[in-house]
Amino acid sequence: PNVAKCVPYHPIKAEWSVNEKVAFECAYGGSMANVRSVAVMKHVGLNVASDSFMTACYHGVRGGMVVISADDPNQFSSQNEQDNRYYGLHALAPVFEPSTPQEAKDMIKYAFDFSEKNNSVVLFRTTTRLNHGRADVEFGEINKSDREPGFDWDRNRWVCVPSNTRPQRTDLLRRMEKMTEEADDFPFNKLTLSEEKINGKRFGFVATGITYSHLLDAMNFHGIKDKVSILKLGLVNPLPRKMLKKLMTSIDELLIVEELEPIFEEQCKAFAFDWNLGDKIKIHGKDFIPQQGELKPETIITQIAKFTGIDYNPPELPSLDISVPPRLPQMCPACSHRNIYWVMKEVSKKYKMKFINNNDIGCYSLGVNKPLEIADTALCMGGSIGMANGFAKITPKDILVTAFLGDSTFFHSGVAPLINAVYNKNDMLIIISDNSFTSMTGGQNNPSNGKTLTDEVGTRILIEDVVKGCGVPEENIWVHEAYDMEGLREKFEQAVKAKGVRVFIPRHMCSLQELRLIKKNKIKLPVIKVDQDLCIGCQICVRQFGCPAINFDYEMRKAYIDQKQCRGCKTCIYICPSKAFHVVDE
Ligand code: SF4
Ligand code: SF4
Ligand code: SF4
Repeated sequence: PNVAKCVPYHPIKAEWSVNEKVAFECAYGGSMANVRSVAVMKHVGLNVASDSFMTACYHGVRGGMVVISADDPNQFSSQNEQDNRYYGLHALAPVFEPSTPQEAKDMIKYAFDFSEKNNSVVLFRTTTRLNHGRADVEFGEINKSDREPGFDWDRNRWVCVPSNTRPQRTDLLRRMEKMTEEADDFPFNKLTLSEEKINGKRFGFVATGITYSHLLDAMNFHGIKDKVSILKLGLVNPLPRKMLKKLMTSIDELLIVEELEPIFEEQCKAFAFDWNLGDKIKIHGKDFIPQQGELKPETIITQIAKFTGIDYNPPELPSLDISVPPRLPQMCPACSHRNIYWVMKEVSKKYKMKFINNNDIGCYSLGVNKPLEIADTALCMGGSIGMANGFAKITPKDILVTAFLGDSTFFHSGVAPLINAVYNKNDMLIIISDNSFTSMTGGQNNPSNGKTLTDEVGTRILIEDVVKGCGVPEENIWVHEAYDMEGLREKFEQAVKAKGVRVFIPRHMCSLQELRLIKKNKIKLPVIKVDQDLCIGCQICVRQFGCPAINFDYEMRKAYIDQKQCRGCKTCIYICPSKAFHVVDE
């Protein structure tokens, strides 16, 4: 969205692509047509784009191309904490990693020149902490480009047949060799050497990214910044060998301070072997630095003290003698995903039928938590239908195989497994909960609402049309308003009873987005209250349904609504067994 804001003021074209592979290819098309381009995605997004990325690295670029990919150590909001630096080694691509917001800005500019000079796609790796960091950033001149966009027809270069890519592989290896030779001159690598000793030894460190910034803080904390040698890496693939050799031959012990995998450590150990330094230097890494989770400043402070033998006792955190109730992430009040989950549970209970509910990536993943606890599996974007294909083949008929995903995930990678299900006649019920936004990542537009990244009117694509086009018969497709609970349940029962591949589409705009519209247009919401005389204190509304706007007064044994949170969707009227919720003001 921030890029979209720049579009009116600069000659930039930007789009929100349906998935990362398409985003990469779209940007690569720009590069082939002599335009500088960038594709942005999170770490697992690069898995999706990797098919194109790997071979694009063979072809090389015309306009400089950068892939910005953000890793998520500690998995704050991701399904894994893979270290995407490996993609650089895997694809023979240069990898940049900035350590401050200013450096991120300076480096990205340099990355385009570097990409063109070395005929390589640059992988620009960041991590959560840097991305969430804020700092004043000094801007430079915005240079006007005189490049002419246009494709150069060259089948020998751009077509990925082996007769082309075989020699390109040779060239790729040569390019990587050249980048390796020049890595020591990379302007964002910095070697600081010190002759001084701590406890009789000369210590050295290697770090990159935000970890380098934390390392400097730790050095300042211990007052040893001038007493140790440090290699700061901005180019994390390929590594600057001369700098490393200089460092490794001027110290006694080296600690590689890297978050996640021991990528530098393994390479440094191999270099030490090649350079016959085996008995002259001790190289440490994961024996001091954790391989899992985010590397926090306090961990680095403690581990550096252990490594150098500095006296340091980490402060003990005061133990708070209070029990804090766990607060699991919840879907918003009036979220339509909750409604269809409720209906699924109701129907499962009514027909005494177990579901294997294969879930997907989106806000609805939160259905795994209490009180709904309805997600049985989840793997990756689009994985719900994919896995349901497997379950459908081996699951007894009295268990219903379902796949649950949202509109954005369906467009991202749900279409191919749906076609697979239809083609192979894999019996399943697919629920595509359509709220018309890519909600979990910040409410971006997508084909379901038809608006583009820049909020222009694109083409709205109806999920039911796509599903029909994929071969699902019309009688096996249900679309229904997700706030109409009676109708939703009735239609869902029909879908459960039907056979073959069925697609059920509950539809209502993401409640958070709707709230923005409501506020903007000053629309008055219905006021819902709990009739205290009718409430029997069963707690179904809080313990089984779980709209965060509903609270329970344990002294009075009655439910009540937090009016600040309530969005007036009226679903609670449906779920309460004693009809205690009612509209007091329309
Ligand atoms: S952001 Fe939208 S989709 Fe996500 S939980 Fe909230 S209402 Fe539901
Ligand atoms: S579900 Fe109805 S009766 Fe039960 S606690 Fe909630 S409001 Fe009261
Ligand atoms: S009307 Fe009921 S279900 Fe809807 S947001 Fe308000 S309390 Fe929650």
